[in-house]
Amino acid sequence: MSPRRIATRIEQLNESATLAIDATAKSMLARGVDLVSFAAGEPDFATPSFIVEAAVEAARDPRNHHYTPAAGLAELREVIAKRTEQLSGLFVDPNQVVVTNGGKHAVYSAMMTLLDDGDEVLIPAPYWVTYPEVVRLAGGVPVAVPTDLSTAFKVTPELLERYCTPRTKMLIHVSPSNPTGAVYSDEESAALAEFADRRGLYVVSDEIYQQLTYGMESAPAIGSFASQELTQRLILVNGVAKTFAMTGWRVGWVIAPGDIAKGVVKLQSQLCSNVSNVSQRAAVAALAADADATSYMREAFARRRESIVSLLAAIDGIDVMWPQGAFYVFPSVQGVLERQFEGSPIGSSYRLAELLLQHAKVAVIPGEAFDAPGYLRLSYALSDEGIVDGIGRIADFVTRL
Ligand code: PMP
Repeated sequence: MSPRRIATRIEQLNESATLAIDATAKSMLARGVDLVSFAAGEPDFATPSFIVEAAVEAARDPRNHHYTPAAGLAELREVIAKRTEQLSGLFVDPNQVVVTNGGKHAVYSAMMTLLDDGDEVLIPAPYWVTYPEVVRLAGGVPVAVPTDLSTAFKVTPELLERYCTPRTKMLIHVSPSNPTGAVYSDEESAALAEFADRRGLYVVSDEIYQQLTYGMESAPAIGSFASQELTQRLILVNGVAKTFAMTGWRVGWVIAPGDIAKGVVKLQSQLCSNVSNVSQRAAVAALAADADATSYMREAFARRRESIVSLLAAIDGIDVMWPQGAFYVFPSVQGVLERQFEGSPIGSSYRLAELLLQHAKVAVIPGEAFDAPGYLRLSYALSDEGIVDGIGRIADFVTRL
């Protein structure tokens, strides 16, 4: 028998549904279709100019034209360590920081470094599509822990306990969450830390939206509640993409106890070497800057959140929770799915998203992409006028059903 053309591990990998829908939306826009896209998983702002200037300068400096350490530039690891201490409640040595090609790569490197075949990973659902795929790539077994609107999309130790087996090794924690915008309070974070400590679990805490919160400075960090033992099993994932409108620059990082960080560096030394030096220098400028320099983006998101949630809440059949962080809203559309379109019931949020794209010229991501049918994810990283126009189109479509 001849060998398979494509390896099983890639045959079985699902492509990112959010990136695919976003790409369709972008190509429709490029063709001149009058489309409003709520599909983007990224800020609509340009990267602040002081960051771009730092990169231009870096590109001219021959020091940046050559290989640098796979773990990242020393200057960048230092600012990351300092900032994490302020925000995540942990003492961080720069040697614990590994710079990666974005937060996605950070998640990948963490899983590859920590998981053996058959290790089970608790993933609260709805979840970011990448987690289960990357867990599987690393040989692990994703275990979805379902939540819904009635519990504000949050898990508790009691719920997680029901999904634990002797093979459970890790919990993925993300607050604020993509896709729901849920933020765990101090008490809830402390309860999860206590649970992971008691159960001997590793925790990967994805803090990429940590500073995009509403009504609070930043999201409570699970690290602030970790016992000494748990800090030895706590891995943080973060990046500059969302906070600084730098999704295209590809800079993220893993922060882990020394031995785990060394494992991540070893992997990267064989996989990709250093992240682009120009991007790393841009990230230094971003992280070293005063928070005021980028607060205008947060303010815009806060305003757009008010607008999108109020507009959605006014549509009959749509139930929506106020997201406390990130730039997504995750309404339930259950009340719309039994209605008829051209003689047949809509049936699923996937079908509703298709119909909205075709007939209302609005792009949204169906909940199915996050293991949560019956919901839609709308990003509010678009202009204030776009939000009013787009939700107006959804309201018109839904009321005509
Ligand atoms: N974590 C979460 C929860 C995300 O939503 C994203 C981006 N969609 C990332 C990590 C990774 O971001 P990036 O790779 O662009 O840094």
